[in-house]
Amino acid sequence: MEGDKMDNPIIRVRQLTKKYGDFTAVDHLDLDIATGEIFGLLGPNGAGKSTTILMLLGLSEPTSGEIEVCGTDPIRSPIAVKRLVGYLPDNIGFYESWTALENLVLTAQLNGISYTEAQRRSLSLLEKVGLRDVAEKKVGKFSRGMRQRLGLADSLIKNPKVLILDEPTLGLDPMGVKDFTSLILRLSREEKLTVLLSSHQLYQVQQICDRVGLFIQGKLVADGSIHDLASRLFQDKPRHIQLKVHQMDTQRARGILEEMQDVKIIGQQDNLFHIDGDEIIVHHLAKKLVEHDIHITQLQQRIYGIEDIYAHYFEGGSTNDAK
Ligand code: ADP
Repeated sequence: MEGDKMDNPIIRVRQLTKKYGDFTAVDHLDLDIATGEIFGLLGPNGAGKSTTILMLLGLSEPTSGEIEVCGTDPIRSPIAVKRLVGYLPDNIGFYESWTALENLVLTAQLNGISYTEAQRRSLSLLEKVGLRDVAEKKVGKFSRGMRQRLGLADSLIKNPKVLILDEPTLGLDPMGVKDFTSLILRLSREEKLTVLLSSHQLYQVQQICDRVGLFIQGKLVADGSIHDLASRLFQDKPRHIQLKVHQMDTQRARGILEEMQDVKIIGQQDNLFHIDGDEIIVHHLAKKLVEHDIHITQLQQRIYGIEDIYAHYFEGGSTNDAK
């Protein structure tokens, strides 16, 4: 959606700026997020992710610019926005000596939900986040992963249309990250819930985000799906195919490759060939080599992903050419 504006975005930000004295934490940010989308705000510490989130929630006042969340202006109507948006901060607090259920029921009641309905909704959410069995256990005994699940249930108790998560997987082990992100993905798809999450953990973001926005020093330097960003950034890079054949077939394979017009060998280490090409070439190669009874042990195309995009922007690459 680069360049064009989205129709009816659920989150719409225009020229949003936040200054602390002379320091600009968020710099003329434009952002549209569609209903049901999972959007990842990516960037190093201090990039302005939390500041942006706080402004979307009406918890921090912008220096200038416009925000609309679910058709509401969080600056003018912070209470209305709080009703529509669930928020999981990076360090949510619970009453440690209370059970998971008691904590959730309290949040529900603070949101104006009756006791009976609060009980019903809390139990149903505990089920959804996989904590039904420990509903009566004290939160003080919970692991970090269980706390985050409870935090998720807590931020969903008022049935929000938008869920905002600040560094939700910080401190989780790799399995915990995987479980938690799959849970977010499932909930978002099932309930058509819009999710905005901030993170500097790349792998998880690639896994579940429909789009990501890359933040550096308060500026959004690129946004789009991982696939779009990768093709925009790396379209001029050699498209790289790796082909490995059985040792005994190396010479014959080389001969066949050299005869193929659309194939360009860019390197060879023993029986491993590096070839410039795309999916069509992979298909031609496979067909040709099999016809000549060459034993293929590996054939794959290098796919550029989030790590390559991140390296491009955050490790000294240009910050302009994807926008
Ligand atoms: P991120 O969430 O991407 O790590 P933040 O939004 O927390 O980044 O911070 C962006 C920048 O704004 C940082 O340099 C931070 O020091 C600064 N900042 C954040 N809050 C305040 C504040 N209340 N007063 C002054 N500077 C702040």
